[in-house]
Amino acid sequence: MNFELILPQKVIFGEGSIKKVGEEAKSLGIDRVLIVTSRGMLKREFLTQITGYLLEHQLSFDIFSRVKPEPPIENVYDCIAFAKDNSCNLLIGLGGGSVIDIAKKVAADLGLPKIMVPTTAGTGSEVTHESVFKVEGKKRAFVDKNLVPNVAIVDPDLTKTMPPLLTASSGIDALAHALECYESRKSNPLVKTIALDAFKLLKENIEKAVQGNRRARINMSLGSLMAGMAFGNSGTTLAHALSYPLSNRGVPHSQSVALVLPFALEFNGSDPRLVEKLKGLRKLVHCDWNADWDANKMAEEVMCDERHLANNPSNVTYRDLLEIFERMKRWLLHEGDL
Ligand SMILES: [Zn+2]
Repeated sequence: MNFELILPQKVIFGEGSIKKVGEEAKSLGIDRVLIVTSRGMLKREFLTQITGYLLEHQLSFDIFSRVKPEPPIENVYDCIAFAKDNSCNLLIGLGGGSVIDIAKKVAADLGLPKIMVPTTAGTGSEVTHESVFKVEGKKRAFVDKNLVPNVAIVDPDLTKTMPPLLTASSGIDALAHALECYESRKSNPLVKTIALDAFKLLKENIEKAVQGNRRARINMSLGSLMAGMAFGNSGTTLAHALSYPLSNRGVPHSQSVALVLPFALEFNGSDPRLVEKLKGLRKLVHCDWNADWDANKMAEEVMCDERHLANNPSNVTYRDLLEIFERMKRWLLHEGDL
């Protein structure tokens, strides 16, 4: 048995751990930080906290807040130009998966160190060496060991402003990461151990977290982090492959995954009780079948996604994919209570 694990040099977890950001940045030997974030974050207290901790350590900073949801690759080029113009020598990504994916890619392309601080519990991107962008309108994953962050700071306090819909969909995305990497053809004993514990934590806490329970929210952050460590080292499978055509049509990543996950698990022969639970959880996420969506085209797009399909435990044909999308359509139009 042979395998490799790629993980950040340091992972810091816990309530209040954001306080360490200045000290960690300083220890990387830099003086000018670029904080990559989204426009919505400009009004949040976390950003002020982070800039305060940087100033305490005599570090200057600039802020790039033009990250788009489900970002196109051009967003990376825009941020690279901004980082160069301001002579930044460290990147801090503060936000959800889109922000973190951009910050990782920009830092990797410029050969700079990077610290990731997620504000959602779901993507796990703060510990993986993968970033996903739209290239000519289609989602594409970039996998490169240089994308792995130097430091990941996972502070569950930062997820307390997540609205219930985002808590639900991001939580289902994290569940998908844990389930898919466990059954991936590239899985290994370490990945399976971490993924199984992550799955239990996420499954037990997702509904309570949606209701705003603090302890459950902390457990969702931990479960998402663990699932990220696991799937980053064995990849995801059919559910993530099925989610890409939906995201290509404007559905956010976590909602796309929430929509397709029960169908993917059913196809792979997972426990029917789990499939039913996930169908129930999916009702927390509002998404309808759009009249413009063509199941044939969507199936064709998935067939091109060789990376995910090669990881899937069962072989998948075009006819299988078409049938899955047709069933999903019927479920959403007639049976789903969404
Ligand atoms: Zn995902």
